[in-house]
Amino acid sequence: MVSSGSKEMLRSLPAVDELLRQEALIDAVQTYPRTLVVRAIRKVLDRNRQAILKGQLVLEQEEFDQVSLVNEILEELECLASFTLRRVVNGTGIIVHTNLGRSLLCQDALDRLQLIGSGYSNLEYDLAEGKRGSRYEHAEAILCEITGAEGALVVNNNAGAVVLALNTLAQGREVVVSRGQLVEIGGSFRIPDIMARSGARLREVGCTNRTHLNDYEKAIGPETALLLDVHASNYQIIGFTAEVGLREMVELGRRHGIPVMQDLGSGCFVDVTRFGLQGEPLVQDSVRSGVDVITFSGDKLLGGTQAGIILARKELIAELRQNPLTRALRVDKLTLAALEATLRLYRDEDAAIQAIPTLKMIATDLITLEDRARGLVEVLRANMPESIGVEIMDGSSMVGGGALPVQNLPTKLVAISSKDMSAARLEISFRGYVTPIIGRVEMELFLLDVRTLQPGDEEIIIAAANSIST
Ligand SMILES: *Cc1c(COP(=O)(O)O)cnc(C)c1O
Repeated sequence: MVSSGSKEMLRSLPAVDELLRQEALIDAVQTYPRTLVVRAIRKVLDRNRQAILKGQLVLEQEEFDQVSLVNEILEELECLASFTLRRVVNGTGIIVHTNLGRSLLCQDALDRLQLIGSGYSNLEYDLAEGKRGSRYEHAEAILCEITGAEGALVVNNNAGAVVLALNTLAQGREVVVSRGQLVEIGGSFRIPDIMARSGARLREVGCTNRTHLNDYEKAIGPETALLLDVHASNYQIIGFTAEVGLREMVELGRRHGIPVMQDLGSGCFVDVTRFGLQGEPLVQDSVRSGVDVITFSGDKLLGGTQAGIILARKELIAELRQNPLTRALRVDKLTLAALEATLRLYRDEDAAIQAIPTLKMIATDLITLEDRARGLVEVLRANMPESIGVEIMDGSSMVGGGALPVQNLPTKLVAISSKDMSAARLEISFRGYVTPIIGRVEMELFLLDVRTLQPGDEEIIIAAANSIST
């Protein structure tokens, strides 16, 4: 039942037109589209109406204060007008952070995006012949040059690449996979499910911790279409373990006339052991092993845009291209533009490490990180009220993106604490800043890992810290 007081309040809610005559909202219409202003008004009125009906809103004089209503509308308007996909500061120390957009693009890639995105291009036009060409040729030559592969195909993402390859090679037939490699990647990519959707039948062999060559061999029969090796990128099985090497698998496949596919996940082109990271397979090594199909991501350790890259022999690439699924998984011109620019950098490994943000962040040494942390702490201390404490701490960064799950890179953290606020509260405030700052909370401290901070982030952190403490 609606009380008489509530009825009064409902009646006193101003009409949309009346609100539009308020000075602040007349101004707002100059800045924002009128439809958006009206939308904000309707939303706020509706919210208040609901609150009254639920008895959640009690006004002193049972009448609406138009000023506070207008302020609420302006807030709503700002919210409606803001982008949903926004730039954030990554202070987590996770370099290929799946939730924060994985890899950052190198400058060359950004330049190509601008150039190719703002003009027409020969995306599907053969300039030499003056007739229709194929988009799939653009990144192929450079991929073959870097990896030593005979052919290459780029699709929307690696999950798509795996589906396409399985569907093309094994639809209606069996794919042999080790039980230790039935991985789930975040975002509901699970090898058994992907296999089913691709129309192939999973034939599990071996045990979770140990799979031997004769496990594969025993499973091979008239139904076998493919042997699949999945790089277990986001977990590690340790202890009493056995895995079959890629070369042995390839040899077995050759003996039986069955192709071998490897889903590499990350797609690493440079040896990262020199940065203290062990065990990430190199794409070039996989190609050399003679495996028939290799798939990997464009935006994990490769450090480019989201893409799925398939390497294989020429005939197989031709077969993949003819699969109608390729059209459904088609790569965009902006992806190709950015990917080509990123790949070209790998012609000079040292240049690649300097220019590709993902690699550069992995390669940053502790002395540089300490300098950066000290610089940040200094400016923070100079610019912030005394209630905020700032210290440097030792910590560890992670590669992320499912790569090298158990290995950490030693790093420096800037630890922020407040006399007036819990660390959890600080975290919420930093996350709620106009440019959200994402860090982690440990030991009652809000921690920012300087390894994943980008040029310009320091200023944002200072501004956020100031807005929070005032
Ligand atoms: C990440 C990953 C995928 C999925 O790649 P996307 O680029 O996210 O589609 C597939 N397989 C493995 C082993 C992976 O690590």
